[in-house]
Amino acid sequence: MRLGCIADDFTGATDVANNLVRAGMRVVQTIGVPRDAASIDADAVVVALKSRTTPASQAREESVQACKWLRSLNPPGQPSQIYFKYCSTFDSTAQGNIGPVTEALMEGLGTSFTIATPAFPDNGRSVFKGHLFVGDVLLSESSMRHHPLTPMTDANLVRVLQAQCRQRVGLVDHGYLRLGAEAVKQRFAELAREGVGIAIVDAIDNQDLLTLGAATADMPLVTAGSGLAMGLPAQWGFEPNDQAQRLPKASGGKAILAGSCSAATQRQTRQFMDAGGAALALDPLQLAQADDPVRDVLAWAQPRLAKGECVMVYSTANAEAVKAVQARLGTQQAGETVERTLAGVAQGLAGLGVRQLIVAGGETSGACVQALNIDRMQIGPQIDPGVPWCHAHSPAACGEGMHLALKSGNFGSDDFFIKAFDVLKDGAPA
Ligand code: ADP
Repeated sequence: MRLGCIADDFTGATDVANNLVRAGMRVVQTIGVPRDAASIDADAVVVALKSRTTPASQAREESVQACKWLRSLNPPGQPSQIYFKYCSTFDSTAQGNIGPVTEALMEGLGTSFTIATPAFPDNGRSVFKGHLFVGDVLLSESSMRHHPLTPMTDANLVRVLQAQCRQRVGLVDHGYLRLGAEAVKQRFAELAREGVGIAIVDAIDNQDLLTLGAATADMPLVTAGSGLAMGLPAQWGFEPNDQAQRLPKASGGKAILAGSCSAATQRQTRQFMDAGGAALALDPLQLAQADDPVRDVLAWAQPRLAKGECVMVYSTANAEAVKAVQARLGTQQAGETVERTLAGVAQGLAGLGVRQLIVAGGETSGACVQALNIDRMQIGPQIDPGVPWCHAHSPAACGEGMHLALKSGNFGSDDFFIKAFDVLKDGAPA
């Protein structure tokens, strides 16, 4: 294993894994820290945590545990790097957890200097003079300023990170990136001499990420969004290749579970139905009163699956409908009711022979993977940026392999649900 990643949320883990696979590494993603290290054969291993908004002490503890486990996969002395992956919008609260986790990992790895950059130009996230831009606007002017859990009201990342850290935070500005990897390395050394422990690094295009990859390939620890994963593998001799993304051949029933209410998922469910796809809408208010909603959904799905149709079960609704439901049930109960039902449906569908499953929604994906009792996944070909097909074994599928695509709500083109299954044909990248 050349690289061990610790991701602070579930779909973020898949996102970084996807970039590594595309750059030629064979990647396994685990759900949490596995109890054993049995039979992991991969160039990179990504541990998916759920530590973005947990109390900082818990996030630190889990991340250090993940780091120890990743390091135990290699014999002592074999070179490897740890990559702490967070969101490309640097989602964090005033207390962390990016700063506290970074400092805990630095301590655990015995290193006194690392970098931080959420830059991912392909997805419109660039860092210039230490300021994060989302598309053409500063982070603090983007919709992130209204995020319910991690509102981001300051685009100056040096300031944001410094507020969470004991270490001094500095900046490697774009002028050094333009001069190349050697200049960046020299700047790192200069900052370290000045007592800086963590450097925010500017990056505005993919060339900057490649330069940064060359400058950080030997660091014990890097921290970044998923963008840096594009720049690192080449430094260790990996080249894009079909083999890295090859999964076992797909077969069995096909299903889509959509628990996201994002604008993109609303368009995707609509397009699937407009194309004549079999779809069942879930109403959270009815779910909350039904005896056994999972049984009802499976009874609807079974004859359609038997005919070879792809079935979609969705709770996706517009903001107005969601607000009305939340007013009746409470936000948390509404979310939990839907997640519980879709998770039960995922399990039931696997029992009915579904072996190709798309789940839309970050929290929804977490609930479904948990219900399927999946603890690790092999990462395969990309469907759309940030969303690859994965392969995993689930007891709910009688221990057989399943193909899964776990889509963060806002990812994917409008025809995502229609085109995704074609990517799996022949088990090869499209
Ligand atoms: P995203 O990736 O778009 O954020 P998530 O699955 O993470 O999607 O979050 C969506 C949340 O909204 C989940 O908790 C889900 O259960 C909840 N939800 C889904 N549909 C509805 C609905 N119709 N009304 C209220 N809440 C819903």
